[in-house]
Amino acid sequence: MEEERQQQPLKENTVIVLHDALVVTMDSQNRVYRNGAVVVRGDTIVAVGQSEDIISQFSSLSPHLINLHGQFLLPGLINTHVHTSQQLARGIADDVDLLTWLHDRIWPYESNMTEEDSYISTLLCGIELIRSGVTCFAEAGGQHVSGMARAVERLGIRACLTQSVMDAGEGLPASWANRSVEECIQSQKDLYKKHHNTADGRIRIWFGLRQIMNSTDHLLTETRDAAKELNTGIHMHVAEIPYENKHVVERRGVDHGTVTYLEKIKLLQSNLLAAHTVWVDENEVGLLSKSGVKVSHCPAAAMHMLGFAPIREMIDAGVCVSLGTDGAPSNNRMSIVDEMYLASLINKGREVFKKGTTDPTVLPAETVLEMATINGAKSVLWDKEIGSLEVGKKADMIVVNPYSWSMMPVHDCISSLVYCMRTENITSLMCNGHWIMVDKKILTLNEEEVMIMAKNASHDLLKRAGIRVPSRMHFL
Ligand SMILES: [Zn+2]
Repeated sequence: MEEERQQQPLKENTVIVLHDALVVTMDSQNRVYRNGAVVVRGDTIVAVGQSEDIISQFSSLSPHLINLHGQFLLPGLINTHVHTSQQLARGIADDVDLLTWLHDRIWPYESNMTEEDSYISTLLCGIELIRSGVTCFAEAGGQHVSGMARAVERLGIRACLTQSVMDAGEGLPASWANRSVEECIQSQKDLYKKHHNTADGRIRIWFGLRQIMNSTDHLLTETRDAAKELNTGIHMHVAEIPYENKHVVERRGVDHGTVTYLEKIKLLQSNLLAAHTVWVDENEVGLLSKSGVKVSHCPAAAMHMLGFAPIREMIDAGVCVSLGTDGAPSNNRMSIVDEMYLASLINKGREVFKKGTTDPTVLPAETVLEMATINGAKSVLWDKEIGSLEVGKKADMIVVNPYSWSMMPVHDCISSLVYCMRTENITSLMCNGHWIMVDKKILTLNEEEVMIMAKNASHDLLKRAGIRVPSRMHFL
């Protein structure tokens, strides 16, 4: 069966019926079919239901039948905050303080990247994304969008690509510090014109704001207006550290941090994807909810460098919260599967820290699964087409094999997906109706080739940027 999927490219109008699966739809009624089937024609889901009904309904069309033998079928997972450009920087800034992280490692690294580096970095990152079940991601803002777009085209998954944009701040590399607001906006409009809706509609272009301390007011408001004009999203790091809020209070005349200021300049809108959003008070949670801002919660990066975001309060207030990995230098693992597990744990742990007592009911598995699927789709403004297995949506889905040491026995399949599943349990992945990974083999590229390219490119890049990672032990 697996060989068939790899070796026989399907004709455009072939009907594929994936059956005998536990189908977790993530639709608005939270339907799960114990013995379900999903029918795909072209790039679209045309039916979802009980296996028996579906097979008899579609038998006259001679469908391509794929028996999943009780494996789980889910919507593709969505990573709403990932720095694909930083994949070649994995391990260059572990266990260092934030200023060293930024000024001595990450900025020199990113400012020395070539277009080819961005391409290779995104390919490498993409392999990890695909292996962790991701069919769509939101780039957090990186270098050379054209390199990222080339890689996404080849990888076969979906992405909202964003350029890293800054026009102010201390310690910026010279090549970034001299950009005018007009240049920042125009270059993004050019990228939009060139790449938006390319790769069979899999690529969308967003506007980027790295963070408020690196943005003038002029840049913030021009970005707000340009995104509105092109009807696209804005991706921005928001309220990451206490110093950021202090900086905003001191220089921008508001009584609390970034969220309060963004409300004042009308940047808090439903097309804003706010990453991290850790240091927000009760009033600001209300502002996020009222304005329909989407929040990307990145649990590993939070524990690594930032702090505990009030996710429970945001969800209670109706904020759409999704999940992100952040970049390799602040997380190391680009696995949304790990983030699902961590999201539940960090927020349970935060209750103890906050209230002095435990509450294991916080962020239950079904909520975490929503964050990684349908909320992810809402966060990237793509929920009419992806995020759940429903008729009319794009065929983005993953097959999970629970028959292994990590998941057996399965008494509660939803909790098992969040607390037990490892990336190794994800065996196949389809995006836009095409198989991208089958039986753990990625079909769209040669992984070994990418590893060699990545090793060489990262070595040259660190040398060019003058970055030296200190030895921790006595190497002989
Ligand atoms: Zn980030």
